[in-house]
Amino acid sequence: MRRTGLLLLLVAFASIAFAQDSAAKTSFISDNLDKSVEPCVDFYQYACGNWLAKHPIPPDRATYGIGGMVFDQNLDALHEGLEVAANPTTKRSPAERRVGDYYAACMDERGINEAGLKPLQPELARIDAISSKAGLAAQIAHMHALGMRDGTQFAQSGRPKSLFDFTAGLDDKDATKVIPIADAGGIALPDRDMYVDEDERSKGLREGYVKHMENMFELMGESPEKAAADAKTVMAIETDLAKVSMTRTDRRDPNSIYHKITVKELQALSPDFNWTAYFAAVGIPATQTVNVREPKFFQGVETAIKAHPLDHWKTYLKWHLVHQAAPMLPTKFVQENFDFYGKQLTGAKELRPRWKRCIASADATLGEDLGVLYTERKFGPESKKRMETMVANLEKALADDIQSLDWMGAETKKAAMVKFHGITNKIGYPEHPRTYPFAVIHRTTPLANMWSVNADDLKWTLARIHKPADKREWQMTANTLNAYYDPQMNNINFPAGILQPPYFSKDNDDAVNYGAIGGVIGHELTHGFDDQGRQYDAEGNLRDWWTAEDATKFKSRAKCVADEYSGFTVKDPANPDKPIHLNGELTLGENAADNGGLRIAYMALQDALAGKQQPLIDGYTPEQRVFMGWGTVWCTNYRDKAAALQAKTNEHSVSKYRVNGVVQNMPEFQKAFSCKAGQPMVSATACRIW
Ligand SMILES: [Zn+2]
Repeated sequence: MRRTGLLLLLVAFASIAFAQDSAAKTSFISDNLDKSVEPCVDFYQYACGNWLAKHPIPPDRATYGIGGMVFDQNLDALHEGLEVAANPTTKRSPAERRVGDYYAACMDERGINEAGLKPLQPELARIDAISSKAGLAAQIAHMHALGMRDGTQFAQSGRPKSLFDFTAGLDDKDATKVIPIADAGGIALPDRDMYVDEDERSKGLREGYVKHMENMFELMGESPEKAAADAKTVMAIETDLAKVSMTRTDRRDPNSIYHKITVKELQALSPDFNWTAYFAAVGIPATQTVNVREPKFFQGVETAIKAHPLDHWKTYLKWHLVHQAAPMLPTKFVQENFDFYGKQLTGAKELRPRWKRCIASADATLGEDLGVLYTERKFGPESKKRMETMVANLEKALADDIQSLDWMGAETKKAAMVKFHGITNKIGYPEHPRTYPFAVIHRTTPLANMWSVNADDLKWTLARIHKPADKREWQMTANTLNAYYDPQMNNINFPAGILQPPYFSKDNDDAVNYGAIGGVIGHELTHGFDDQGRQYDAEGNLRDWWTAEDATKFKSRAKCVADEYSGFTVKDPANPDKPIHLNGELTLGENAADNGGLRIAYMALQDALAGKQQPLIDGYTPEQRVFMGWGTVWCTNYRDKAAALQAKTNEHSVSKYRVNGVVQNMPEFQKAFSCKAGQPMVSATACRIW
């Protein structure tokens, strides 16, 4: 299922504890400012400069921002809850027992080191026993059940499954039904482009990746020669798969990744892969239709199966097995995994403490159990009520905005309002958290625990096929510092983890709250009408409700935004003379949501103030404070490698442009700070969609 989140931090490898004063009141915003810079020259630097200077990136992180600070506070609450839940002598609820024992097993580094590779042996033997390529299908199904939802790795789909990705989700053209989805996958670098791009950075990452695989094979006991050969073998297979995978940008068009076909048709795409055996092994009947997101990829799977001998496939599977298992293997595997995925890829200097990695693993596997521990500590009914009021105010502003657009015709407006009225929201946490009925968890078997919960997840996911959509499901855990819009559910979702100061606080003045959490609410609402969201209707179906004329106007306005952000750059650590440009097409939906979101937050504040004279706070007007609230949310220090990775692979622009890219389009900002034409924060070609 696609969802469009907010990305307040690069989650992977990004966490550290910092004792922070509780962030509140406008003086907090004021303290962040760099007053040596004019707001109309570089608003991000103005809003964040002092904070950035005072908060260097901790060694175990790739980025550190105000989001990272809140993330740490959330971790502390989880830590406290887990220390209680992990104690078997206390009276524990089933959720506490599961997640407490999972955490305790994960924390037992000594036990893990003593066990060595023993927990992996039965799985390695299983791969060795495959006697022909016909046996690949059942093995892939088995490995998909072991899964990878560990949360410390990168992957294009977020779920780097072996050979391809397989899940179930709503049918894009009939959002009442859950259907199986087969998708591209099978690579363990974060993006298919990294296998094919010829720039220095990509070449360096490929070399580093091959070396990393070599090291892992050696740790598994292979000779250096065999390890080197095996690493090359895996690289060859993954490169074949990457080459037949679509780019992230091409995947943004929902129609380009919708191909509902029968299993027979899928079988014709890859005749040498036994889909009947695969379906039987994952436990669903092979009689149904499947959304094959990238048919060309599955033709490529066929070519790859033919091109590489069985032994090479076994090597590939062993790599994926050890890669998936790494977080629960002995320390030397964990360190080697970090040296590539943390150090080389993101620039982090040190492995983060084990308790934080174990929380990340619990979050990725037993996230709804963890969410219960979190909400008990960090979220109350009062927060929910206040948030409901803000959402209602932002919704009203969006409705007014749509009605007042001068470029959209009456017919499309009417349809847009139907979609708008269909939007629902969820705030805080799931009403009925999942219970993981098939998960078997012991305090002494960390790797088996991870596999067992993953298998439970695949079972749960596939059991939804042919059942009606459940709008109560959450795609993020309650403790997550993020928010999302789901085009197929047509709902906006705000986990309790983001409803914390300084995003959302009773101590913030209204203007700052509107700029911070209001901007976030507006962002998610706007996703319903971004380049992807606008293609879904009120019921969540991929259906064109636009007049041709208005669709053309939308595209030309969207192109303005794409061109604007393609002009922004970050440093290329591998080639300082040639900066990396943001990908305006890839980031279009997020940038459109930032622009629309802040505008409707601003409008909602105006409504709330209703012309009443507001006092200055620290010398700032409410109009200035709303922009300062938005700026504050994004204050983030980046390592060069992390900024490059984000620019290349992430749909969210780096923080500086999430602030400056938006305000330079807004006359409201320019008026608030008395900016003059020709200043950097006054765009001569300002873009506006919403
Ligand atoms: Zn977003």
